[in-house]
Amino acid sequence: MAVRTRFAPSPTGYMHVGGVRTALFAWLFARQNGGQFILRIEDTDKAREVEGSIGHIIESLKWLDIEWDEGIDIGGPFEPYLQSARLDSYHKYARQLIEAGFAYPDPYTEEQVEGFRQQAETEKRPFLYRDHRPDTFGEWDGTQPLRFKVPEVKRYTWNDLVYGELTAGEEALDDFILVKSDSYPTYNFAHIIDDLEMEITHIMRANEFISSTPKFLSLYEALDIKRPEFATMPPILGSDGNKKLGKRDGAKDILDYRSEGYLPTGMMNFLALLGWHPEGDQEVFTPEELIKTFDITRIQKGGARFDEEKLRFINREHMRQLSDTAYIAAGNLTAPDTSRLEKVVPLLKERSHTFGEAREMMGHELACIWTAPAVDRDMLISKEVPSETRGAYTKQALTDLAATIKTLPNNLANDLDAESIKEQLMPYADQNPKENGGRGAVLWPLRYALSGQEKSPDPFTLISILGTEESLLRITAALAILGE
Ligand code: GLU
Repeated sequence: MAVRTRFAPSPTGYMHVGGVRTALFAWLFARQNGGQFILRIEDTDKAREVEGSIGHIIESLKWLDIEWDEGIDIGGPFEPYLQSARLDSYHKYARQLIEAGFAYPDPYTEEQVEGFRQQAETEKRPFLYRDHRPDTFGEWDGTQPLRFKVPEVKRYTWNDLVYGELTAGEEALDDFILVKSDSYPTYNFAHIIDDLEMEITHIMRANEFISSTPKFLSLYEALDIKRPEFATMPPILGSDGNKKLGKRDGAKDILDYRSEGYLPTGMMNFLALLGWHPEGDQEVFTPEELIKTFDITRIQKGGARFDEEKLRFINREHMRQLSDTAYIAAGNLTAPDTSRLEKVVPLLKERSHTFGEAREMMGHELACIWTAPAVDRDMLISKEVPSETRGAYTKQALTDLAATIKTLPNNLANDLDAESIKEQLMPYADQNPKENGGRGAVLWPLRYALSGQEKSPDPFTLISILGTEESLLRITAALAILGE
């Protein structure tokens, strides 16, 4: 039988890493088995619904390129893929259960049920609705909740593809609600009918559903249907190993990562490693490699720690794999001078973990590449040099360096790289005696003259990007500030 997996979010707000990771694992599993992946929206809890969520879910999955074969917006052989449009289906199965003696209308008012609950609490025993199940069932007119009559109160043992053998006893079974008084089904009922009708073979979902699994199993039995395979996702823990996720641990909107300049392939790679890891020590994967390598039996049971540093590392690797032109386009990077922009890409690739950081670097550390600096005399003169000779000393150093730079071919025409520039200039800096501040006392004024910034790339890199002509202009301007 062909593999069919689904992602079935409720439209109750934005998507965060937990939801997207479940979608990703279901998608990877379908893709690697040549199966189908379905997007179904579970909107039966109208009170919790948040407007705009469906669009947000679609946008998030599309950003990550987790594409579905059937679903809410594209339809398919089992449409509709929106639960609120499938009420007839649930009512049909509800009638079937009533006829088989497995469902009955709840005869109690909310106050009465509350009374039973309190009584159980006073007597220090668990509250079970089935203890109050009426002896005879009335007609269901659709206005009362419809309850499931658990066919057999017993211990269940089942296999989970991730957690292995699981078991739960009688305490996990009760007469739960199938259809609420507003005629909408509960999640417990609706998802089982949908998975049946949509021919789902594997259910990937969060581990909060483990405790309800005996209820699902008893319903599969009552309906006399074969259940799909279950694969439960491990929980995601905060970066400190704590259960509570903070904003830095992915508790935020997944689309925030898009605004911060993460690449969808980097995000997908990171999410795949959140609770799964391959046999070897490879960490950077393309989506195609993930489809090939993903192995459901290697999903871990224990909590997966959300490590933002790892996300940043992986994302940088994905950014680096882009061609320079693709990098500029993906990062939406613009600059007044295109040839210099192309020259800074290797620098950005080395240092930026997100395109947000790359843009930040362009506006700060690299701002000097596009705008000639305003140089401050006090900043320019070497502090390491004895104070009475500082000005003259710096002037001499810059003059000597400029003479060497003049002999270099202009890199824009000759593609002179930072390494060769360094080879030419370093011997001069190295000759500078220790008592005069050593090489730092030479390199500081050079770098500052070129950049006018405390923080910038090294002077050789700057010359390689600016070209010798522009570099000499800047050095001349700095020399003018030093005066006679
Ligand atoms: N609608 C459920 C949720 O959003 C999905 C659970 C499932 O995948 O069965 O948590």
